[in-house]
Amino acid sequence: MRRIVVVGAGQAGLLLALGLKQNGYDVTVVAERTAEALRGGRLISNACVFAPGLAHERRLGVDFWNDEVPWVSEVAFFGAGEPGEQEPAISWLATLDEHAESVDQRIKMAAWLDEFARIGGEIRIASVTPDELEPYTRDFDLVLVAAGRGPQFADLFKRNAELSRFSTPQRALSAIYLEAVGEDPFPMAAGVNFGLSSVGECFALPVLSTTGPVVGLGFFGIPGGPLDVWDDVTDQDQHFELAHKLLSTHFPWLAGITANGRPAGPLDTITGRVTPVVRDAVGTLPSGAKVLAMGDAAVTNDPVGGQGANMATRCAAVYQDAILEHGDKPFDEEFMRRSFDRFWAHARHATRFNSDLLEPPPPHVVDTLIAAQTIPEVAQRFAQLFPDPADYEGWLTDPEASARFLSEARARA
Ligand SMILES: Cc1cc2nc3c(=O)[nH]c(=O)nc-3n(C[C@H](O)[C@H](O)[C@H](O)COP(=O)(O)OP(=O)(O)OC[C@H]3O[C@@H](n4cnc5c(N)ncnc54)[C@H](O)[C@@H]3O)c2cc1C
Repeated sequence: MRRIVVVGAGQAGLLLALGLKQNGYDVTVVAERTAEALRGGRLISNACVFAPGLAHERRLGVDFWNDEVPWVSEVAFFGAGEPGEQEPAISWLATLDEHAESVDQRIKMAAWLDEFARIGGEIRIASVTPDELEPYTRDFDLVLVAAGRGPQFADLFKRNAELSRFSTPQRALSAIYLEAVGEDPFPMAAGVNFGLSSVGECFALPVLSTTGPVVGLGFFGIPGGPLDVWDDVTDQDQHFELAHKLLSTHFPWLAGITANGRPAGPLDTITGRVTPVVRDAVGTLPSGAKVLAMGDAAVTNDPVGGQGANMATRCAAVYQDAILEHGDKPFDEEFMRRSFDRFWAHARHATRFNSDLLEPPPPHVVDTLIAAQTIPEVAQRFAQLFPDPADYEGWLTDPEASARFLSEARARA
């Protein structure tokens, strides 16, 4: 039986481990934390997973939250006008073709670790350094590194300068989970509420968290600007007050969310900065042995476009297929490069869409966002970029194509 080890028990690593175990492979997962520690720990992310990712979770039978998770069915877009304006300059609402879901990764990863153990997977609790990977390459047929976006493996998986647009963080991030104060629902669309402004972005969406349904509220601040205020904030009340102030000042039409809410718990906040990067996913150890990166360890995007967990899922699905198809052949460098290329065929679209979101929108994109207010087909197509960023290329990457689409959609409307 082929022995495979996955270092890192996140969205990418656990889905691949579960899929391979279900297919009869002898799989070991190296996790930094136990399921219990994960459940009781600090917020990890705010990962909203769209329909293609949910379909893979469903295929593996690990979509355990169908009865309780609030649906993310809509995308409400708000473009801020001049500072101080109480209403957005651009605003539209579209319904996703299929709903998305945001299940707190503390619940999700803990449940998946438990499920992996239940079906006979081996779990080792350890934090592996790059130097410690060598013995794994002797004991296992394939070593996968799914250790996320941290800098620890950055020397092993070198930055691909050609494919990486940025070399520094493009946003200061923050997220907080809120529970409702009274009986009234939060005054927001039933899905991703996304605010765009010249100083950064904000989002709010329904989430299933450790305490039940909550609203995840986050900011993506352009470094040095007025939304870049999170570096020293650890206290939930301070985080909440700042969030309320920023909403009231920069996205006032959404301030009812904080007015109706309070912090869900002292560990339900996260702040930080992410450097978007595409890496060479094949790492070479001093012995010459090769290891393969997956998920954020291979391709990290800023969370602004909600693509990271979705691409981590895609990576797990693509690598699983590649491993199954490979049969008994050795997992050599050629296999690894081919597997990553199959993943990149998807991830390049998410990366392009996400990277462009970090830059000021060019005039033809602004025109599209404005037209989306009056032409539902345009709003619908834009909203669908979150689950299917492949549609971005050849449409919003091309001013002529986007102008053509707008005039055709206008004629149809
Ligand atoms: C605030 C915020 C909001 C986000 N919102 C979204 C969203 O809406 N949609 C979306 O798709 N994505 C979102 N993301 C991104 C998403 O969370 C990540 O892209 C996704 O979790 C990546 O999955 P992964 O498995 O590659 O890495 P991770 O989820 O980071 O998992 C890596 C795992 O490896 C473990 N690990 C790390 N180092 C080691 C080591 N040395 N040894 C052993 N284990 C190790 C970690 O403990 C962790 O369990 C968001 C991120 C943030 C921060």
